Amino acid sequence: MGELFTGHGVIQTPVFMPVGTQGTVKAVTQRALESEIGAEIILANTYHLYLRPGTRILEQAGGLHSFMNWRKPILTDSGGFQVYSLSELRKLKKDGVEFRSHLDGSTHFFSPRKVIEIERSIGSDIMMPLDECTPFPCEYEYAKKSKLLTSEWAVLNRQAFDSTVPLYGHEQYLFGIVQGSVYKDLRESSAKDLMKLDFDGYSIGGLAVGEPVELMYELVDFTTDLISEEKPRYLMGVGRPENILEAIARGVDMFDCVMPTRNARNAYLFTSAGIVSMRNAAYKDDFQPLDGNCDCYTCRNFSRSYLRHLFNAKEILALVLATTHNLSFYLNLVREARERIIDGSFIDWKNEFSRIISVNVKSTEEE
Ligand SMILES: [Zn+2]
Repeated sequence: MGELFTGHGVIQTPVFMPVGTQGTVKAVTQRALESEIGAEIILANTYHLYLRPGTRILEQAGGLHSFMNWRKPILTDSGGFQVYSLSELRKLKKDGVEFRSHLDGSTHFFSPRKVIEIERSIGSDIMMPLDECTPFPCEYEYAKKSKLLTSEWAVLNRQAFDSTVPLYGHEQYLFGIVQGSVYKDLRESSAKDLMKLDFDGYSIGGLAVGEPVELMYELVDFTTDLISEEKPRYLMGVGRPENILEAIARGVDMFDCVMPTRNARNAYLFTSAGIVSMRNAAYKDDFQPLDGNCDCYTCRNFSRSYLRHLFNAKEILALVLATTHNLSFYLNLVREARERIIDGSFIDWKNEFSRIISVNVKSTEEE
């Protein structure tokens, strides 16, 4: 827990970063994000923005903040994960990765330096470096080789960062990404390699890729202990509300996940009683707000019956209202976590939250 100072304002941690891959958080306006949802920082993606609209347009616009008219901080993913998951015919080489665009099949090459240069064009406040994210399960020998590559690239990332300058007058920060799959000795040596390079913060990568949740918690606990408390710790791609609270308890400051936005568009809404499907017939004539404990725009103004109707009628407003609620739910959750840490009631509150969620999950399974 703490504060992160950026050229676009101070971020209170723990913080959840809505995912705005292509320079937009799907289905909500920048105005709603800032004034109704209260996002402190959003995440954009280097791979996607490099392919479309491209760095020339971004530079002409004066960077992504100006292009999308977002005044608060932006963090960019390196795009490494998308290169591995989306693009065809990727070739991993010692000095980078060659891949084909998922849009038009054109060939591109990302090196650690290239990614930093693209992130300079984007102008993100916090930049992630190129790394290799291992899948789960992952053989020890492969994880070891991959961790070595990520460490070698970290040196190149650092050099590229030190030899380039921000283009738009605000400072940019560079994080290191701790890899090492599920092997503690590899995680430890990865963290050591990165700490020597003195990054501005550290991400925990390669988790939430299908491993059992208890193993993820154990590795988060182990990895946060390796990172200096002075530096922010960012757990990439996690997760469900209860996962986030467990990771906060283990020392994580920053989170991002597509879950609240993607689930919203599929009519799955997070509430203080658990996840509900807005398509459920039970809501047909239910005129209560979606979540009586939520003060978001959606819950203040619309009933479950109306939301269900919008989803059934395939109206665009369904996606807008559901996304507004889910993001508000996540942001309120981490905000309350911060307050509970300060007043000393965090652990009891977290345990009660997890208990309610697990009771709810069981009752849905029994249906
Ligand atoms: Zn709400």
